[in-house]
Amino acid sequence: MASFLSTLLGWLGLAPPRLRCRASIWNEGVQQLARRTLGARRESGAYLLGTHRPDGSRDVLDFIYYDDVDPEALSTGIVTIRETALPRLWEICRARGYGVVADVHVHPGGFGQSESDMANPVMPRAGHIALILPYFARNNPRPGSIGMFEFLGDGQWVEHSGKGRKFFRLGG
Ligand SMILES: [Zn+2]
Repeated sequence: MASFLSTLLGWLGLAPPRLRCRASIWNEGVQQLARRTLGARRESGAYLLGTHRPDGSRDVLDFIYYDDVDPEALSTGIVTIRETALPRLWEICRARGYGVVADVHVHPGGFGQSESDMANPVMPRAGHIALILPYFARNNPRPGSIGMFEFLGDGQWVEHSGKGRKFFRLGG
C-alpha cells in the first residue's frame, strides 16, 4: 500500500524529494568546493550533514569539507579520506545533532561515476546518496545538471540524475 501510494504521488508529481537544501546553503557550499579545487587543479568534496523528515526526505543543512576533517584528503588530486578523519566527523555530527545525509564531490569533466566512486561509497550503507558536480563545480551546478546516485548495497547503484528537482529540491 505504501509503495502504491508513493507511486501514485509520483505520477501526480507530489512525491516528496529525497533531498532538500536551502539555495543559500547550496550556493555557498558549491562556491567553497570550487575554491578548494585551487583553480581546477584537484578534486574537492564534502559530507552533507542534516536531518531526516518523517516522509523520508532529507534536509541538507551543512557542508563539512573533506580537507577540513583531513588536511591530506585532497593532496593526491583525487579525494581520499583516511580512517583517522572519521572520529572528527562523528564529533561534528554529535555536536550539531545531525547525521550524514549525502556526500558531494567535484569532477574535472562530466558527472558520471568513476570506477573508484562505485567501488568506494563514502557511506557504505543502502540508501546513501552521492552527488557529483561536473567541471570543478564552476558552472552553477544544480539538480538537473549534476550526478545523483543512490547506493543500493553490494556494489550496486541506481542513478537519479535525470529526475532533477523531483529528486533534489533547492528551496528558499
Ligand atoms: Zn568521482
